[in-house]
Amino acid sequence: MIDFIHQFKAQRVLFGSGVLDRVADELAALAVKRTVILTTPEQVQSGEAIARRIGTPAVGHLPVARMHTPVEITTDAMATARALGADSVLSIGGGSTIGLGKALSIRTGWPHLTIPTTYSGSEMTPILGETEGGQKTTRRDDAILPATVIYDVDLTRTLPQAARITSGMNALAHAVEALYAPDATPVIDLMAVEGIRLMLPALTRLGELSGDGQALADLFRGAWLCGACLGATTMGLHHKLAHVLGGSFDLPHAELHTVLIPHVLAFNASSIPDIDRRIRMALGCDAEPGGFLFDQIAALGGPTRLKDIGMPEEGIARAVVQATANPYANPRTPDAIAIEALLRRAWGGDRPVAE
Ligand code: NAD
Repeated sequence: MIDFIHQFKAQRVLFGSGVLDRVADELAALAVKRTVILTTPEQVQSGEAIARRIGTPAVGHLPVARMHTPVEITTDAMATARALGADSVLSIGGGSTIGLGKALSIRTGWPHLTIPTTYSGSEMTPILGETEGGQKTTRRDDAILPATVIYDVDLTRTLPQAARITSGMNALAHAVEALYAPDATPVIDLMAVEGIRLMLPALTRLGELSGDGQALADLFRGAWLCGACLGATTMGLHHKLAHVLGGSFDLPHAELHTVLIPHVLAFNASSIPDIDRRIRMALGCDAEPGGFLFDQIAALGGPTRLKDIGMPEEGIARAVVQATANPYANPRTPDAIAIEALLRRAWGGDRPVAE
């Protein structure tokens, strides 16, 4: 008998191909009349297209979203949105754009409708990370959770395969850590296993046939489930390392998760035999999952070395100190010697070692 508390969150999710057609109805269901649209500068056309689709309720489009949600961008965007008379926010893009949507929504109380176009999972979480003066702060508040999420699989067709791989691994890492989270529940377990099961085969199929609609749908459905796991549980060593390395060395988010997750899987394996067995089944492997995932990422052409994504070797010692201070709950205690060995392997691209 295992005790648990599962809190279902109030959030509406639409999923499908062409489901973007429903966006105006969904805004009306939120009882909003004046929506400001957010994108990155790179996705300006997506913002313009959605503005045309919505018509009059689209009062403006701000293509200003940036990685790590800088507070100065949020402050400017909020002033512009207020001047436009906005009563709501619509974000269309990856985790960076969704982050700006969350930052505006939590400051104003406006409803947030989001249309994700990557697998980051931010749309399913009540978590907001923001940066100011080089410092990153993260907060969790149910009011941060977007009210409505529209997953239109067609929007992921433009995502380059390299980004699909790294964003997919970012998602998979959420589900892996949810399986051993102290606040996991039977519902989270089901979502995590199914999320992991969907990701790798779909990425492989897309490597062979880039427009495979079923694979795109599987990946996005997996990302939804993995994101829901992130939103509902407390993450462990993997997310601690990603937070420390990303914050200290400004490393690209999804690539960093991709390099780290095989090593953390291998590190934790001996402490979680039952979960390790379930991860093997979900990944479809007989071997140790960390090494298996490392091989799969390499075969897909994804990043496997921290040094290739901008991590300086001399930063490892500082990262070890930060990663072992106030560690997140994790099945195996991350001592300095083991974490240094893990980071050195990840830095040089050595295959992970399960002990
Ligand atoms: P991103 O949002 O920074 O997007 C990367 C680039 O890809 C951008 O130029 C974007 O415009 C482009 N892009 C996105 N979708 C595209 C598509 N379908 N086709 C073509 N180009 C597309 O990257 P990301 O990995 O989605 O998000 C990373 C950010 O999200 C980080 O800041 C991270 O901290 C945050 N994040 C937050 C949470 C949370 O729960 N708060 C969870 C995961 C990630």
